[in-house]
Parts: sequence; C-alpha cells; structure tokens
Amino acid sequence: MQVSIEWIEKWFTVFNNDYFGGKLPLPDLALSKSKTRLGSMSCKHVTRFGRTKVYDFAIRISNYYDMTERQFQNVLLHEMIHYSITYTGTKDTSPHGVVFRGMADAMNRKYGWDINVMISIRNVKVADDKIVKPFLVMALELQTGERLLTVVNPKYAKKVDSMARNVKRISRFAWYTSTDKYFIHYPLVRALRGRRVTLDVYEEKTSEMQEVLV
Ligand SMILES: [Zn+2]
Repeated sequence: MQVSIEWIEKWFTVFNNDYFGGKLPLPDLALSKSKTRLGSMSCKHVTRFGRTKVYDFAIRISNYYDMTERQFQNVLLHEMIHYSITYTGTKDTSPHGVVFRGMADAMNRKYGWDINVMISIRNVKVADDKIVKPFLVMALELQTGERLLTVVNPKYAKKVDSMARNVKRISRFAWYTSTDKYFIHYPLVRALRGRRVTLDVYEEKTSEMQEVLV
C-alpha cells in the first residue's frame, strides 16, 4: 500500500495516545519519494541566551516502496521515538542510542511491533508507480477521418487485431509500445474500443512511439 497525510495523522494520533501519553503535539507531516530513507524526523534548533529551543518538528514518510500497513506503522513509530526523545529534551548516547533502543525494544516486546534501528529495505517491493511497464497502444484511423487511441491488454492483442481487420470503417490501424505517462489514464481494454483524440494528439503520439507487430 501507499500512505497519505491523513493516514499518517490518524496513526500518529493513535500511537501518541497509546504509547506516548498523548504528550506529543502533531508535527508537520509530509510524504516523500526517498529511496534510502523510509522515514525521517526533522526539527530546527535556536539558541538564545544559552538556552536551546527546538521547534518546527516534521515527520516524513516515504512512499517509494510498496509496503504493508504494518511496515509503514513500524516506520512511523521509529520516527515518533526520535520525535519524543528530541521533544522532551532527553539526552541519548547517539541518534539510535541507549534511550532509542530501550523505547523501541519495549514497544516491540510489549505490543509486538518490529521497530528496527536501521530500517531494512530487503523484501520490500518498489511502489507500483515506479515500475514503468510499456503500454501496448493501438492507433486507429476511421473512414470518417476520426482518430482513436486505445491501450490494449497484451493478452488480447491478437484478438483485437483480428477484430479490427474485419471492421470496414477502420481505414488504417497500427500497434505501438509506449512508456508515455499520458496513457496511464486510459483503460486497459480487451476488446475493440478506443478514445477519440484530435489529429494533433494522434500525430504527436504516433510519431513518438515505437511501432510493433502483435
Ligand atoms: Zn532513526
């Protein structure tokens, strides 16, 4: 799955009440596409008259990987431990020091979480929108001059191809592969169906695509 700001806020509130005594104010929440940091907690420090004030806390969760809800919750809890330590001004031996590990271990033991010091990205799939599968596009010209484009499920390409051959009002058609994001919003069809496009769009798209045989 992928998370949203609303998801982070919902679970932040639940975990704050369950594990942090409801003492953590809601920080800024953000999403990222980071490949190497599944989560991060940031804040600003200002020192005046020898006193350090910490403010502008933010928690970011990366949607780079397609993870289970449980995995995202473990990432959020990891960042909430950092937040809690910094917010309360607790001194730790290192970023993932004795205090951090003590809190993570206690939550893992008591509540069955799997909060790790280093978040492993093994066995984690890359989020779906990172995988650019080429679209199989069919471009059709009708006798009326209309132009159509359609994205066909490759398993049905031969069937759709023979259907098109038998339709008189199709004057010409061709197959292409494309990784153009423009086609993301096209339905993946299994029958002869298409979307009407302007001549300009048709010419532009067909000139950029790689023609193929099915
Ligand atoms: Zn950390």
